[in-house]
Parts: sequence; C-alpha cells; structure tokens
Amino acid sequence: MTHADAVLSLSGVRKSYPHPAGEVEVLRGVDARFDRGETVAIIGPSGSGKSTLLSLLAGLDKPSGGAIHFLGREISQLSERDLTVWRAENLGIVFQQFHLMAHLTAAENAALPLDVRGDRSARAAAAQALTDVGLGHRQDHYPHEMSGGECQRVAIARALVVKPRLLLADEPSGNLDTKTGEHVMDLLFDLAKQKQTTLILVTHNELLAARCDRRLALSEGRLV
Ligand code: ADP
Ligand code: MG
Repeated sequence: MTHADAVLSLSGVRKSYPHPAGEVEVLRGVDARFDRGETVAIIGPSGSGKSTLLSLLAGLDKPSGGAIHFLGREISQLSERDLTVWRAENLGIVFQQFHLMAHLTAAENAALPLDVRGDRSARAAAAQALTDVGLGHRQDHYPHEMSGGECQRVAIARALVVKPRLLLADEPSGNLDTKTGEHVMDLLFDLAKQKQTTLILVTHNELLAARCDRRLALSEGRLV
C-alpha cells in the first residue's frame, strides 16, 4: 500500500492513569498504522488496555505521550472544539456500554450524528439504518424500553448512519445472540468494503477476529 492509503498512524503512544497506589501504565509505546478500507481486530486479555486505546483513537482522551495522526493531521493535539467537528465528520464509534441518550428514542439516537451536522436527511437515514440492524419496529422506543442487544444495535445504527471513514467498535457482538451478531457484523464489514471505511474492532470473538484482514494483540502495553 502507498502512504496515501494510511488513515491512522500511531507512534510511541503512551497512556498512564494516576492512582494513589502509583501510576498505572496501560499503554507503553504503541506503534501502528491503519490503512483505507482495512479491517483490523484488536485482541488482548481483560484489562490490557483495549478500551483505553480506542478512546485515544476516538480523541475522547489524550495520550500521555506519543502522537496519533489521522490523514496526516495530529488529532492528539486538537482542541475539544476541533475534535468534536473531526469526530462528526469522520468517525463512527460503537462503545462497550452503548452510550445512548436516555431521553431520546431509537430513531433520535440513530439520527443524532447527522442532526448535529444539520443534515436534513437525518431522520430518513436513521430509519433506514435501524431497519438495516433489524430494528425497524423499534423506532419510537426509548433505551430503557429495549433489551441490551437492541440498544447495542441502535448504537451500531448510529455509527453507520454517517458512513464514517473510521469505524471503531468495542466488543460489538458482546451483547448479541449468534444470529443477530453475525448479521450486524455483516453490516459493519459491508460498510468497510463499500465505503473503504477503516474498521478497528476490539473483540474476544475468534470468528470475528478471523474475518478481519489483520489481527493485532495488546500485550504488555504494546501492539504486537
Ligand atoms: P480492556 O478494555 O482491555 O479490558 P481498559 O482499557 O478498560 O482494558 O483498562 C486497562 C487498564 O487501565 C485497567 O487496568 C484499568 O483498571 C485501567 N484504567 C482504565 N481506565 C482508567 C481510569 N479512568 N483511571 C484509572 N485506571 C484506569
Ligand atoms: Mg474494554
């Protein structure tokens, strides 16, 4: 691949958390490069720093050291305001804990990233995305009126609706039964292929990891 294909690159990325018992060093110098349209699985035991790494890639937290570049721009240095715009334009995220808005319906949650942009097609696109994840019949339901797996699918619809260049997913099939999980994963992989989206997937699921172009393991604070 040529350099122009690089979407995301990390060099010497470190992250530690302060703690009364002594600083916790979670990431100790992560180097990686992710290309356009590539699907990558990140695996590693619980507590190895997978979610920490995703939150840095999403610009939701800052590294303690090193740099993260997105299409040549150093996102680890952007202001909160610039990061918000950057996320709205480029990023889809499926969090481990969904992070749906409790006071918004499924359709409103899924439409949110487009609403923020003032996109008039937000509601129609959200309705389609909900149908795609098998939730066409839950448009007007609030998160507390849905199961964990349904909330997970709303979160996936919300990530798909922007057709992002970078899609980050933290254990996306964790709350879904096998059949629904496979269908929803098909959607993520189809999107990656059609739109040349870079898909970075944290997973414990071997079958899912095997579907990715590459697999990287977090071990002792590094990606190997
Ligand atoms: P994983 O997703 O691989 O299970 P995490 O990234 O959630 O791992 O956590 C990695 C390590 O960082 C854990 O030991 C966890 O206790 C620690 N950690 C995560 N977030 C914080 C935080 N906000 N403050 C202190 N320690 C944290
Ligand atoms: Mg995690």
